[in-house]
Amino acid sequence: MNIHEYQAKELLRAEGVPIPPGEIASTPEQAEAIAKKLGGMVVVKAQVHAGGRGKAGGVKLAKSPEEARELASRILGMKIKGLTVHTVLVTAAAEIASEAYVGIILDRATKKPVFMVSAAGGIDIEEVAATTPEKILKLPIDTRYGLLAYQASELGFFLFDDLKKVRAASKIMMALYQAFMKNGASLAEINPLVVTLAGDVIALDAKISIDDNELDRHPELEALRDETAEEPSEVDARNSHLTFIKLDGDVGCIVNGAGLAMATMDLVKYYGGEPANFLDIGGSSNPEKVVNALRIITAEPHVKAILFNIFGGITRTDDVANGIVTATKANPLKIPIVIRLTGTNEEIAMQILTENGFTASSDMDEAVKKAVALAKGGQAA
Ligand code: ADP
Ligand code: MG
Repeated sequence: MNIHEYQAKELLRAEGVPIPPGEIASTPEQAEAIAKKLGGMVVVKAQVHAGGRGKAGGVKLAKSPEEARELASRILGMKIKGLTVHTVLVTAAAEIASEAYVGIILDRATKKPVFMVSAAGGIDIEEVAATTPEKILKLPIDTRYGLLAYQASELGFFLFDDLKKVRAASKIMMALYQAFMKNGASLAEINPLVVTLAGDVIALDAKISIDDNELDRHPELEALRDETAEEPSEVDARNSHLTFIKLDGDVGCIVNGAGLAMATMDLVKYYGGEPANFLDIGGSSNPEKVVNALRIITAEPHVKAILFNIFGGITRTDDVANGIVTATKANPLKIPIVIRLTGTNEEIAMQILTENGFTASSDMDEAVKKAVALAKGGQAA
């Protein structure tokens, strides 16, 4: 789950990270009132689940409350990387002397949170990583001990020479690590972590991604979810208790089990196609899940063919067949469908489908090849 900058900043503030004050606004008038309250120069910042807002014109400096209102009216409603801006953060402007990068990501290979810090922050850290990787210090953390004081100092010294700034940065590293662990994050970053003209070290931007699997342990974080900022199909899928991730291809996949869903996507690619999504309808069978899955997939205009791949164990294939029949009766399909099912109650399922004018097979390769061909507008092989 992604959260907004202002929400990530709240989580970091709670651990003691110094961050300029600010509030969110959804109208230009609110932005003006906040700017007036803060006094001095402010920055108006688009709140969307995307980076690079500065480059896209979504982060602007205002010298007066009137200018803050004007900038807010321009930024609200703007699209950044396809995402509409519904709110802006109005925050006190800092006088920047230098910008650094500080982040923690969960490294799946080592199964550890890894700190990444660089004095070359602010701009694309990806660019720094690609062209001058020596400017980034990577430090894996053993979660049994957490971030130890000497490690926090090491990180601080990599960024600064001045002892006062090193200490301030080390404290921020500790706080960032706490925020990362406490909130079940898969990523937490501050970019830029700036040194002000007065010599203070403060965070001007924050990004935290919460691991979806951690939400059970942190139900309070669910309140940070902003459905208006998420992919509509993913919101619908979550509310229907389906595991769904939208992708860019044109073969809509409806599969039971995450492993089979991955294997299906691999096979689609192997036969020259591109999956439009990852979708796991789950273990227990329930015709309604199939109905919801079909609704979500057919709502995507770029999906050119639907591929069902069901391995019946706990999932009863006759339930899936009934789901397909119910869903397509209510909303007749406009695109071809290829059904592969095998396992529990396979004969009954085949019969239900045949009686309702569908064809189905039990061969996965054959079904995937057929779906790929149909998505390309060709004849099924
Ligand atoms: P993004 O990473 O999405 O582009 P940032 O919040 O990092 O958005 O803002 C981009 C740049 O704008 C920062 O690198 C910084 O130079 C400047 N900036 C952001 N917030 C402030 C602020 N409160 N005061 C002064 N400058 C800021
Ligand atoms: Mg940034």
